[in-house]
Amino acid sequence: MKYYNNILETIGNTPMVKLNKLVAEIPATVLAKVETFNPGNSIKDRMALKMIEDAEKEGKLKPGYTIIEGTSGNTGMGLAIAAIIKGYKCIFTTTDKQSKEKVDALKAFGAEVIVCPTNVDPEDPRSYYSVSSRLVNETPNSWKANQYDNLSNSKAHYEQTGPEIWEQTEGKITHLVVGVGTGGTICGTGKYLKEKNPNIKIWGIDTYGSVFKKYKETGIFDKNEIYPYITEGIGEDFLPENVDMSIIDLFEKVTDKDAALMTREIVKKEGIFVGNSAGAAIAGLKQLKDKLTKDDVVVVIFHDHGTRYLGKMFNDDWMRERGFLQEEFITAKDLVKD
Ligand code: PMP
Repeated sequence: MKYYNNILETIGNTPMVKLNKLVAEIPATVLAKVETFNPGNSIKDRMALKMIEDAEKEGKLKPGYTIIEGTSGNTGMGLAIAAIIKGYKCIFTTTDKQSKEKVDALKAFGAEVIVCPTNVDPEDPRSYYSVSSRLVNETPNSWKANQYDNLSNSKAHYEQTGPEIWEQTEGKITHLVVGVGTGGTICGTGKYLKEKNPNIKIWGIDTYGSVFKKYKETGIFDKNEIYPYITEGIGEDFLPENVDMSIIDLFEKVTDKDAALMTREIVKKEGIFVGNSAGAAIAGLKQLKDKLTKDDVVVVIFHDHGTRYLGKMFNDDWMRERGFLQEEFITAKDLVKD
């Protein structure tokens, strides 16, 4: 019989899929690492399990404990799945910017979810970082995963995502393109790939409203770079420990509109149902296409699944309200003159 002993054993070994119509104008071969095939439908299953296993080994997480984390949803999903199999409780804090689908999905897995305001400083007592820290202090037998500064996050990608990409491309990869949030995916994967071949370029995709690009280029942490944005999963208003700037060769910023429109394009042109950061990554890659040649092999990470964005990028009203869709539908009401 061929079976897995539990759902956690299905994490990783995701497929690599060549992109065709979507990237017709890019001279290189472009391959997507489609992380939606993980059981929680995102790449974050990998690091969630690794953080839990490392904490268990270090004696920080014991049977019956409560796992606490500030999460935009995908990390929470990975933690919640592992918690079910391993017998932990979960309490997550998230922001009111995140899609309702993500919050409901976490609750479906038995997690308690506390929604906090987006537009406050990380140090503000109402921020989702502060609330999760306070919960750890107030909850006996609890452990905060701390995906931003917990280096088990990037280690998961150094141990799994990097070797998988190296093998799947038979060592031919020349560029890695990744949306950056905690930095775990890009820095863990990029570190492994650069050790194999230091000529591989590692390109980070950032958002307008985030500090990464300016910091990489000037070494200055510029608070003026911080303002609210719509793109989910990438960009930060602080520098997480998992971001190792020495691994990343450059950052490219993508607008909320371009990321949202490109998310829809991926589905329409390739039939791959992915989330907002995949759209940002492809839009960023297209902005950088003049740096590529026909011999290049580019791998783009598709972090998560489109179902989590049905009420957002995939909803025409949501897109129109933000001015992201140009065409206007004429309704019967518009035709009635009073
Ligand atoms: N895309 C999505 C949808 C995510 O949830 C995240 C995690 N915040 C990222 C991209 C960025 O990945 P990382 O945290 O590893 O930098």
